[in-house]
Amino acid sequence: MKVIDTHAHLEELNDVQRALAEAREAGVIKIVGVGSDSKSNQRILALAKQFSEMVVPALGLHPWNLEHDPAEEIKFIEVHIDECIALGEVGMDYWIDRDQELQRRTLETILKIAVEHDKPAILHSRGAWQDVFELVRESNIERAIFHWYSGPIDLLHQILDLGYYISATPAAEYSRHHQRAIVETPIERIVLETDTPVNYRGMEARPVHVLRSLNAVAKLKELSPEEVAEITTRNAIQVFRL
Ligand SMILES: [Zn+2]
Repeated sequence: MKVIDTHAHLEELNDVQRALAEAREAGVIKIVGVGSDSKSNQRILALAKQFSEMVVPALGLHPWNLEHDPAEEIKFIEVHIDECIALGEVGMDYWIDRDQELQRRTLETILKIAVEHDKPAILHSRGAWQDVFELVRESNIERAIFHWYSGPIDLLHQILDLGYYISATPAAEYSRHHQRAIVETPIERIVLETDTPVNYRGMEARPVHVLRSLNAVAKLKELSPEEVAEITTRNAIQVFRL
């Protein structure tokens, strides 16, 4: 089986080299390293250079890191835009204490950059699903992944109607909201990920755990792990143009 982890904060791992070797051994052929601010974007670009056979970089500005005027952060993304395959992690989060208007303006700006440069966006939308969707729709962006989607199901159908994707994390093993989204989404619109190094009920994720996402999706979709691997890998190659 060949699988792709489409969302990992690789720069937060202590031993990236070891995590990549372990993942490769298990059939992981590519990992999208996602950035959260200029410092992490820089690290992701360096890792993608160092491990170019395995790591592809996405540049982002996580809503959790929006504590001040993001002009410098956005400039970094624009300067390095040709070095990345996607913009992410970006988005909005209404469950944290960050200025919502600043979140909105920032996402709007980043989506504009994504459209100008024909890059997909990897979206964080926790608690802000409807507003993120509106901005994405208004941007007319061609490719978008609603990462770890756990939002309302009627909105999910609008997301899918516009041709966008959702990603499945190991939380698909137990999160009712995430499971429901996966059940409702055609397998042709699902990509796998780990959100490394998120802690899933006591397990700190590494890219190898994309197999847990895979098996959870297989169970929910009543498909074999081999089928899920084949289809979701094809989806990832398509949406990220790998
Ligand atoms: Zn993430």
